[in-house]
Amino acid sequence: MSRRIGFIGLGIMGKPMSKNLLKAGNELIVYDIVDAPVRELEKLGAKAAKSSKEVAEHSDLVITMLPDSPEVEKAVLGNQGVFEGIRSGSTYIDMSTISPLTTKKVAEEAKAKSLKILDAPVSGGEKGAIEATLTIMVGGPKSVFDECLPILQVMGKNIVHCGDAGSGQVVKACNQILVAGVLETASEALVLGAKAGVDPQVVLKVIAGGWAMKVLDARGPLIFKRDFKPGFKTRLHYKDLNIALAAGSEYGVPLPVTSLIHEMMGAMKTAGRSDYDHSGIVTVLEDLAKAEVKKHAATR
Ligand code: NAD
Repeated sequence: MSRRIGFIGLGIMGKPMSKNLLKAGNELIVYDIVDAPVRELEKLGAKAAKSSKEVAEHSDLVITMLPDSPEVEKAVLGNQGVFEGIRSGSTYIDMSTISPLTTKKVAEEAKAKSLKILDAPVSGGEKGAIEATLTIMVGGPKSVFDECLPILQVMGKNIVHCGDAGSGQVVKACNQILVAGVLETASEALVLGAKAGVDPQVVLKVIAGGWAMKVLDARGPLIFKRDFKPGFKTRLHYKDLNIALAAGSEYGVPLPVTSLIHEMMGAMKTAGRSDYDHSGIVTVLEDLAKAEVKKHAATR
């Protein structure tokens, strides 16, 4: 069923996402502070609005895809913003990556206006936006999630309801920690390999397709069960990082994150956990945070 959808923020991600909504047969009204992408969408059949308020006045569902929290606050709560034009009972989905605290603030204001609201940040980059294969992490009432799923499926493939308002943003932040960690540690590995005289393509082939990238699939569920019986003992991984750091020192390659992880594995030895599986590194963080990673009772 086609809907009147408003889309605000037609940048690298928002433009292809809105094109996919249009292709799926929805009526679209768009706005961006930059004129060029608005004109491009207009040529494809979208209507152009002059403000976020005007977008909201002509839509049943409003989507924002903006850079950060201040832009979302301005476009939604500000002068000529979405909440000045939106009708009670309408739906608002923020697909930008912003602070969960801002999301909660906007959700409170939405409640006062009897709006249905979701936070639905994405991962998968421009390619995922163009190919409609984004992962979408959704926070908000499950009933609103169910209602909006067909629209989200026009833009993404792996669409997960994460919990209450703001939880989509929390899961996105968790995702970004991992992406940053993988990119940085993969960079450390590639630079060490290159400077030690190994073809970087060979290193990439091994680390990208090999065990390193699959380790979470295997060990994640065991962390929830507090099962640290070793498949690979921490003290052996500690030894491996020693080898890597010594090689880094020999070839003149600083490995800042590797050395941090080495120290954390060292702390496991002090805590009497060096025979834990290497996934037990999570316990060092748990000690620092005074929190434990275990499944919520409801999802057990
Ligand atoms: P972008 O900077 O390319 O696009 C943002 C758009 O918002 C721009 O066109 C800008 O003119 C517009 N804009 C800014 N303020 C506005 C306002 N007040 N009213 C209307 N329009 C306004 O950014 P992007 O790469 O498309 O990212 C959008 C969001 O998606 C960000 O939160 C980003 O972190 C997230 N994200 C980006 C990627 C990526 O690979 N680019 C991947 C996943 C998530």
